Amino acid sequence: MSNRINTPQEIENMRQSGRILASTLRVLAERIQPGMTTKDLDDIAAAELKAAGVTGPFKGYDGFPAVLCVSVNNEIVHGIPGKRVIEDGDIVGLDFGVDYKGAITDGAITVAVGEVAPKVQKLLTATQEALVEGIAAVRAGARIGDISHAVEQRLKRDRLSIVEDLAGHGVGHELHEDPIILNYGPANRGPKLEAGMTIAIEPIATLGTKKIYLGPDQWTILTIDGSWASQFEHTVLVTEDGAEILTQ
Ligand code: MG
Repeated sequence: MSNRINTPQEIENMRQSGRILASTLRVLAERIQPGMTTKDLDDIAAAELKAAGVTGPFKGYDGFPAVLCVSVNNEIVHGIPGKRVIEDGDIVGLDFGVDYKGAITDGAITVAVGEVAPKVQKLLTATQEALVEGIAAVRAGARIGDISHAVEQRLKRDRLSIVEDLAGHGVGHELHEDPIILNYGPANRGPKLEAGMTIAIEPIATLGTKKIYLGPDQWTILTIDGSWASQFEHTVLVTEDGAEILTQ
């Protein structure tokens, strides 16, 4: 499944898949507020999928029980929606996938609920900008390491820790395809990008350690020092001269 090139029809389907994903994340970002449970957010996402006539590839993936991953504060990724109540001042990671006619897209945002501390806002801004920098390194002929290096440079500028055990990936026919796209490492290394590939770039950073552990639910990944974490992700199409962001 390495270096898979999408057909024109598959690219059209990926665009539609990405549009549904982006609009769902926008709805979630607008409606999230203190007092809601993380399950409420999953219900909203499931309703959006249903209204669009598509399915969510996260549900059932290795047995994951929801269409949306909701990860709060020191939870980095893969949080299972449930009874947890969102509070003013939380940051909430929303990681989502859409399957439209077999075209799978993957995207994530981290949302500040109400007022957050300046250093937390800085974490969110830097991670989002790292995604922008990573995407700016994409074009046919560039190498995966160019993306990794661009992401790392931006996160290091704010002295954030990069969670090295988590990475971006190819996406499209399946949720996780080759190649792995690390969020650190030297430029000019790794597989070459070709026009027509679709990849998910997802910087993940923390205010403290890069060390993680798996929570008792066997899904949620957390920082071992309790520091807060941020993730932003887009699925992009590699083009001859750059990237087309499919999930915005
Ligand atoms: Mg992903």
